[in-house]
Amino acid sequence: MSYNPSNYWLHTVQMPAGTPGALPERVDVAIVGAGFTGLSAARILAKRGASVAVLETNTIGWGASSRNGGMVLTGMKLGVETLSSRYGMDVTKRMYAASLASINLVEHIVGEEKIDCNFSRCGHLEVACKQSHFDTYARSVEVIAREFNHHLRIVPRSELRSEIGSNIYYGGMVDDVSAGVNPASYVAGLGRAALKAGACISENTRVEHIERGSRNGASGFHLVTSRGSLFAENVFIATSGYTSNTTPALRKKIIPIGSFIIATERLPEALAHELSPRNRMIYDSKHYLYYYRLTPDNRMLFGGRAAFFPEASNTIQRSAEILRRGMIGVYPQLRDTKVEYAWGGTLDFCFDTMPHAGLMDGMYYAVGYAGHGVAMATYLGAKIAEQIRGGPEENPYAKIPFPGAPLGLYNGRPWFLPFAGAYYKVLDWIS
Ligand SMILES: Cc1cc2nc3c(=O)[nH]c(=O)nc-3n(C[C@H](O)[C@H](O)[C@H](O)COP(=O)(O)OP(=O)(O)OC[C@H]3O[C@@H](n4cnc5c(N)ncnc54)[C@H](O)[C@@H]3O)c2cc1C
Repeated sequence: MSYNPSNYWLHTVQMPAGTPGALPERVDVAIVGAGFTGLSAARILAKRGASVAVLETNTIGWGASSRNGGMVLTGMKLGVETLSSRYGMDVTKRMYAASLASINLVEHIVGEEKIDCNFSRCGHLEVACKQSHFDTYARSVEVIAREFNHHLRIVPRSELRSEIGSNIYYGGMVDDVSAGVNPASYVAGLGRAALKAGACISENTRVEHIERGSRNGASGFHLVTSRGSLFAENVFIATSGYTSNTTPALRKKIIPIGSFIIATERLPEALAHELSPRNRMIYDSKHYLYYYRLTPDNRMLFGGRAAFFPEASNTIQRSAEILRRGMIGVYPQLRDTKVEYAWGGTLDFCFDTMPHAGLMDGMYYAVGYAGHGVAMATYLGAKIAEQIRGGPEENPYAKIPFPGAPLGLYNGRPWFLPFAGAYYKVLDWIS
């Protein structure tokens, strides 16, 4: 079967145009990348009176920010038990609190900037693919309630039909605090808010080289771009899975991994309700997981890391077929439903599967969202913006170690992805 490689979300939104004309000669802050991270930072910095230029190779929201599942999730990619054994309970508490604060921040921005993006606190549902996975839920719920005063709910298999119209799972775990959003509308709204606050957003402007320098006695950075040069006192790298050799030290710390999504034709109301009676953001318990949800116009949007390599027309076609089969495995009701859209995007994983935000080579950065970036990118963008304006270094990821590849065997080209993919498939099989 052949699929139309097209991002459904982009058909629902009018992206704002960037700032026309030449680049400014000098700014207080240059931000590389116009996704959630960069635009959230630009909005705050411009509101605080700083001169800001956001420099974007493509267009506003072109990267993962307009391509994702729109799941605004509590918690982090790694479970709290892994986190507490690695960093201790105090640091884990701060990380968990940041994950909840990040959703509040998205909700606040959507309200304050009047962004029409279907933000809704619909909650999320994690479903267990094996009995052994379900057995771990009780302990997670207990630890999260005790240590973080946050309450999730276990749904036994016998009651799962109230949450999902599928028979294949062993039970579930619900968090009512998570939310859903149309990510393209949200990133468009963030872009409009940053422009309104006075930020310059330069589209089709690839940053090619950055080096330390000074101008009129002020120290900072000279940036060479595809559309001319500028001087900035501060630089914030917000390039996520699309980080390139413009920042080689950062690139070596990030593994770009493809994630892919299909969206069906619109479903009849009754069928949509049967598949997801509470309209949750849903994902399963595997390493090689599926994530899925209804769109506001009742399509089934179904995603997963079907191919590990980043998006290209061949990986999209291959992934779309894998995802369609996966979707029918979960929902046999969709066997004859047409898939109308298929697209992909690049996730940014760090070697420890953690977000990282701070200073490297004198430049600020925030990366490593590992598929949990809608809220966290918004949050870390804002936190780094406050830090640039002289605020405290407040994010819980600033002080944790930021590992590179084991033995340094990585130059930014992820040659090991097929092995990693095979490894996770085996893990899913045996665990
Ligand atoms: C398919 C998919 C599904 C996902 N689903 C979810 C989900 O449901 N929930 C969730 O929380 N997260 C999800 N994520 C992750 C989330 O989308 C990202 O973490 C988040 O969008 C990262 O935002 P960002 O602004 O840091 O990066 P991006 O939005 O990727 O923006 C980076 C930008 O930097 C630009 N750039 C790169 N290099 C340069 C340069 N040298 N000069 C100028 N510009 C440059 C790129 O063009 C790009 O536009 C998903 C991601 C993908 C790909």
